[in-house]
Amino acid sequence: ATPTSIMVGTGRAAELGVLFRKGEALQTLKDARVVAVDKTGTLTEGRPVLTDLEVADGFERNTVLAHVAAVEARSEHPIARAIVSAAQKAGLDLPELAQFESVTGMGVRAVVGGVPVHVGADRYMRELGLPVELFADTAQRLGDEGKSPLYAAIDGQLAGIIAVSDPIKASTPPAIAALHELGLKVAMITGDNARTAQAIARRLGIDEVEAEVLPQGKVDAVRRLQAEHGTVAFVGDGINDAPALAQADIGVAIGTGTDVAMESADVVLMSGSLLGIPTAIALSQATLGNIR
Ligand code: ADP
Ligand code: MG
Repeated sequence: ATPTSIMVGTGRAAELGVLFRKGEALQTLKDARVVAVDKTGTLTEGRPVLTDLEVADGFERNTVLAHVAAVEARSEHPIARAIVSAAQKAGLDLPELAQFESVTGMGVRAVVGGVPVHVGADRYMRELGLPVELFADTAQRLGDEGKSPLYAAIDGQLAGIIAVSDPIKASTPPAIAALHELGLKVAMITGDNARTAQAIARRLGIDEVEAEVLPQGKVDAVRRLQAEHGTVAFVGDGINDAPALAQADIGVAIGTGTDVAMESADVVLMSGSLLGIPTAIALSQATLGNIR
């Protein structure tokens, strides 16, 4: 490709809301075999809502919600906003909080009204020695519905199971269809629950799923896809996506996401719509010739 054709290609892309931070990415994109995507905030809106709350025997719903929301009020995870706004809607006063701590890939903890409270994934509860299997049936049902189950522990006792659900972006199904049309595979890489991830992947026709992945694990997942398939584009929006964006052959950030993600990316989708990816790949193929 000539420098002129690259300039024309990236200029056309910019008009379509696809910003090439590195011109080489336009050349690499045409070779992409797999588009790997983060789930929360990339496939989904990143604005989950609380849908379910089931408490263990001896616990009262509003007490559990108030304790959990008190901890989440300090967290910046999208899950946290869902829980805090549910507590606000219920008109609950949040008890006072001390010693907040966020445990990466696991959840959050703090001392609330003098007692320890932990909120997070099943693996976090297991690590604390809590019997999550009490809620096995509920967790399975929630996961199959594409909702993300979380657990709450109050004063060392498993207190309840909570589900949050994050709507899928309207642009996600047509973007996946367009990628399949171009002959690419689509893979999902997420820190979320495996059953939930599988249910969403099934609904969207996603080809491969890596779930319950810790932030550093996203890099390993991209490496595995590169070893198996060749050129991989990774699409993400979060701070925790930055290492995977750097590892991928083409890092694509969602323009509505975090600055850290955008700074680690080769390409930025200004509108936040995933439809920019098939558009960019088609442009790359048109600019440089599809030599597949
Ligand atoms: P992702 O956002 O892709 O799910 P994270 O590494 O941020 O990846 O989180 C992994 C998992 O840890 C979440 O799916 C959730 O189960 C749990 N978790 C993280 N932060 C919180 C939080 N603030 N409240 C409850 N659970 C959390
Ligand atoms: Mg995300």
